[in-house]
Amino acid sequence: MDSALDKSERARTRLPQAEHVARVHCPISWPEGDRCLNCHEMFPCTAYGWAFDVLVDAGWSPTDVQALDARTGPWS
Ligand SMILES: [Zn+2]
Repeated sequence: MDSALDKSERARTRLPQAEHVARVHCPISWPEGDRCLNCHEMFPCTAYGWAFDVLVDAGWSPTDVQALDARTGPWS
């Protein structure tokens, strides 16, 4: 059992999932602060926090992660 290989394989398959999560869990402005568009938790939500960590661990910069939010307006 090569656990190092398992770990990198898991990291590889997690990346596309993390990209998707970071794209759909994005902040919208509410009077009391930013909330997640997808799950309505206060932003950053649990899912976005996970995705952010995965992508930054993989060598992405925080700017790269934020650039996944390709909405044309705050509600689209
Ligand atoms: Zn969310």
